[in-house]
Formats: sequence, structure tokens, C-alpha cells
Amino acid sequence: MTQTSSGPKGSDRQLHLQCPVCDGQSGAPIDSAVTVPVMMNRVYGSAQDARNAARATLSLARCQDCGFVWNSRFEPSIMAYDESYENDQTLSSAFVAHLTTRARDVIASVPEAEPIDALEVGCGQGRFLQELASVGGGRLRSLEGFDPAWRGSGPEGPGGARIHRRYFDATSAQQLSHAPNVIVSRHTIEHVADPIAFLRAIRAALGPESQASVFIETPCIEWILQRGAMQDFCYEHCSLFDAPSLATALKRAGFIDARVEHVFGGQYLWAHAQATALPQGLAFTRDDVTLPQIDSARRSFIAHWRQELDKAAQDGPVALWGASTKGVTFALLNDPQAQLIDHVVDINPAKQGRYLALSGLAVLSPADSIQRGPQTIFVMNPNYLEEIRESLAAQGSNPRLVPIN
Ligand SMILES: [Zn+2]
Repeated sequence: MTQTSSGPKGSDRQLHLQCPVCDGQSGAPIDSAVTVPVMMNRVYGSAQDARNAARATLSLARCQDCGFVWNSRFEPSIMAYDESYENDQTLSSAFVAHLTTRARDVIASVPEAEPIDALEVGCGQGRFLQELASVGGGRLRSLEGFDPAWRGSGPEGPGGARIHRRYFDATSAQQLSHAPNVIVSRHTIEHVADPIAFLRAIRAALGPESQASVFIETPCIEWILQRGAMQDFCYEHCSLFDAPSLATALKRAGFIDARVEHVFGGQYLWAHAQATALPQGLAFTRDDVTLPQIDSARRSFIAHWRQELDKAAQDGPVALWGASTKGVTFALLNDPQAQLIDHVVDINPAKQGRYLALSGLAVLSPADSIQRGPQTIFVMNPNYLEEIRESLAAQGSNPRLVPIN
């Protein structure tokens, strides 16, 4: 990640931007513009291709009314989510346990006497649909998913699901075999520039009388800001919620009784709401929290981790564990020329042997990483620390593991 030469002009700071969630006029920039790779979960066939990956501008604004944070320079037209998009995290047992818990929540939301018609918007390769099938068993009547990145040759997905290779929109309901009584969308709304339109399309697909449940999972902006987790900001995540702004968005789209929990060690929000016939009145008052200044947080993040990388590099090869958003961004912030970090480890075979956007760092399997003898591994997500320690120890490797945040 490189700072743009100019940064925001003085007058930009005075801009009042309209909030995409509550339509309030009190959005204000909270960050200098930075240049970042467009796609985070795309890995490249050569280091040269990786260094030439497409770039775009990240410039965050925050609504002082509802708390929503968004990229005010986001251009939806340059995004391309297709079959080459790779974001499978389910090779980690900590993540699978998280999926199972979420699937149990979803299935439990439908009264026991009713059959379950479940829909997932942004279902990827159907891993969560499979989890729903295994938890829901015979109670499932229909199980459908939508994702432009679906790679199957036909609609048959895991767990008996039908998967449509397309974005979900207001016209998608016509393709469903049953009106769903539960809808899930995990790690999708943060990629959408107009989250209200996205949620209203879901609401419209349910039919006017529906009282279906909706579940939304997305990263928590409070968690990122409180931890100064600068490696979590990326171009793909153009819409970032805290609990109140996610509840506000659901309410504006025609859902009631939004309950928002913090899950996965606080990193994600998990919202559950009910469809209702009439959108309710809105109230946007909130106590303004002291906003950490992202620019200064980013500077101290870089100062701290660059020093840690420097020290670690004196002990021998340094690796990062995790070749998705956090790893790509951590490398660009702290070692953009890849002079201190030797390689990145990822357990996803689809990423191994390929290269990270802009830094051009090689992604290796754990076994290939061990061959290069890393003395220190910076672990991008602390939720996986113990799992990583155990798996390395089982292969006779005991490097120093340093969790980020
Ligand atoms: Zn707002």
C-alpha cells in the first residue's frame, strides 16, 4: 500500500458526504487516500504479474449519524468477481467450527414444524450451504445459492444445493423453487457499494407477506479501529459496518428486530432480523465515539511492525501466515518491496505456488515453507495461532509465531 503523492486536499476534509446507509449528510473523510490492489483474494501466476496487479484508490469516509464507514472513491465497475476468485478459508478447523455454529443458528431460527427453504446470497463454492445441509438434514426442502464466482459446471452444488452463477438482485426471486423462510449472506455486503439496495433486493425476493429470517455476517469496523488493524482495510471492502449501522441498514430495507452479535473473536458481526411488511420509522441518533485517526493509526502500525520485521529478519527467514486480505495488506504496508519477508504460507492449495498482488511475494504450502526454514512467522489472524502452532510442531517445526493484533 503506497500513499498517493497528493493525499486529500485541504478542502476535501470539509466535504459532507451523503451516507449510503442512512442518507444523512454528515459523512466525512477519515483517511488520506491510499493506493491498493483492486482484488485481494486473487493470486498471480508470476511475481511480475503480481507486481503489475490492478490498483485503485481507497479513501474512507464515516457517517457521524449511523457509524457506517465506506470507500468514497470506490468504483464498482472495476470489480470482477468471477470463477478465478479464491477465498476458501474452510481448510482451517477454527473456521469450520465457526461455520457450524452459524449454521446451527440459521436452522434453529425456523420453527421445528416448518420445512426449511434456505437461500444464501454470495455462497462462493457452496461450503456454507453444505454446512446448512448437514445441520438441517431432512428438514431442508430447498437449498439455493447465488454467486458469480460459482465454478460448478451446472447448478448442482454441495449438500444438494442449487447454485446460480450470477449476482443476486431483485429479479432473482423468479429463479427460486420456493420462497425462502431463511436467508443468509456471509461476507458479501462489505463488497457492495449500495448496501441498502442489496438488502432491499433480498427483502423483495421474500414476497410481501414474508416473515422470514435474515442473517448477515460481515467484518466489524469497531474491531478494526479499536485494534488499529490496518491490515484489514482493502479495496474490496467498500462498506464497513459497526453493530448500530448494520441494524440501521436492515431496518431501512424492511427488516425488524435486528439483533447484532460479535462473533469469531469479535472480528465479525452476525446480525439476525425478521422480514416485515412495512419498513419501520428510523432513528439515527447515536453517541459519537471518539474516532481513532486512521492516518496516525496507520503510521504507528507501520512503525511498530516494520521494526518487528527488521528484528525478525536478523534471526533468519521471515514468513507471513495467511495469503488473503490481511496478508496482502500487511505486506504492502510494512514491506512493499518484499525485502524483509521471505514468503507467505497458506493452507489453501489454490493459492500455493502463486504470488500476492503488488508485493509479488510467493505463497507456499506449510511443507514448502518449512524447507525454507523460517525462524519467525507473523500470523495474520490470531484465531488460528494454536492451530498453526500444532500443525507446524507435528511436522517438527517450531518457529517463533507472532500474532498480529
Ligand atoms: Zn449514516
